[in-house]
Amino acid sequence: MPLTGIEIFKLLPKTNCGECGVPTCLAFAMNLAAGKAELSACPYVSDEAKAQLAEASAPPIRPVTVGVGDTAIKVGGETVMFRHEKRFENPPGLALLISDTMDDAEIDGRLERFKQLQYERVGLNLRPELVAVKSESDDAGKFTAAVSRVTKNSDAGIILMSSKPDILAAGLKECADRKPLIYSATRDNLDSVADLAKEHSCPVAVKAANVDELVELTTKLTEAGINDIVLDSGSRTVRQAFEDQVVIRSSALAKKFRPLGFPTIVFPFEMTDDPMKKALIASMFVAKYAGIIVLSDFQGESLFPLLVERMNIYTDPQRPLVTTQGIYEINNPDENSPVLVTTNFSLTYFIVSGEIESCKVPSYLLVMDTEGLSVMTAWAAGKFVADLIGPFVKKSGIEDKAKHHKLIIPGYAAAESGGLEEELPGWEILVGPRDGAHIPAYLKSWKP
Ligand code: SF4
Repeated sequence: MPLTGIEIFKLLPKTNCGECGVPTCLAFAMNLAAGKAELSACPYVSDEAKAQLAEASAPPIRPVTVGVGDTAIKVGGETVMFRHEKRFENPPGLALLISDTMDDAEIDGRLERFKQLQYERVGLNLRPELVAVKSESDDAGKFTAAVSRVTKNSDAGIILMSSKPDILAAGLKECADRKPLIYSATRDNLDSVADLAKEHSCPVAVKAANVDELVELTTKLTEAGINDIVLDSGSRTVRQAFEDQVVIRSSALAKKFRPLGFPTIVFPFEMTDDPMKKALIASMFVAKYAGIIVLSDFQGESLFPLLVERMNIYTDPQRPLVTTQGIYEINNPDENSPVLVTTNFSLTYFIVSGEIESCKVPSYLLVMDTEGLSVMTAWAAGKFVADLIGPFVKKSGIEDKAKHHKLIIPGYAAAESGGLEEELPGWEILVGPRDGAHIPAYLKSWKP
């Protein structure tokens, strides 16, 4: 049984030093009990107390890693039902299906799409992470050949899919060093698949007929010493699968029910044949609450929205995306190019830099650290005002790059122009457009 807040409190140092980010040990204990804090935040817990608190401090949903090295993906580790309560931790892995009944050309085509379908957005690389190789032939040789083709042509994390332990064992010979997810242990093969998972130290997915059976199977696996588990409740109707996700997440978080405290795997392509519906179902599971989503194929028009949705939902709502402060050179500027200044809220930066880039006017963009606030908010909060912008411009080094002394400020910060003329003697302050969309027209008429 997990410890209560009071039980945890009794094991803490009770000095109320506040170094853990809350003012008292009691508040920290309550957060720990609710899964909203990590024990490592308190530097003064004794080793003895640490051992006793291990259970209480473990995330209610165990994080599970599939793969190794740079391309390994961690799923699970979630601590809240709703993003606004804190944040969602580990985005669900998106997996591409490859069957061992596909010919080489089809497999290569899919792997090529897997590689190509990557997108840069707000400074992040959005891409899928996993390839699920499924045995449909029931032939160990064909399965091994498909797994081998994937390992040679892709750095993706791998899911090995078969209900037959001998076929899974054959696949593992090809890729055990990549620590694939073994899918699946069932009521019929549990012991054999558990042995494979132990032998190769790989995570294992459990497939059950329903949530009750999942509880039974995960209990047996954990008793056998296997803890890296992924859950498939077996439901293949949208409604039931959705309900299962909610039941699993809430049981793990609200009731601290360990047998369901693992990430889940879902298969939208087994719920419909319609490609549009597959994407819609996948989007539902991005939000609630899949750990891995297996898609029958990847196409840009369905994958890209899923990647963007995933990025948005798994962005920390308490921490705005920021761009590094500095001078950004766009379209190869020279000493006569215009100089613009803006804030370091990523969305602001990408909108402004995108407009400058698209109009092809060589320019310098000064990005000032405003703690991730947009222009209007930063200005209203006193973080994008003349007495801060002035020193930033002076220290930025822009005077070594542009010989004119003209600074274009955002229209929303027009009120700062007078103050900036005082802060930056010898500079002419120009008020630019309020809206990023008007930047191209403004820059095209700009003269040094
Ligand atoms: Fe208490 Fe540790 Fe937090 Fe200090 S850091 S207030 S000792 S829980």
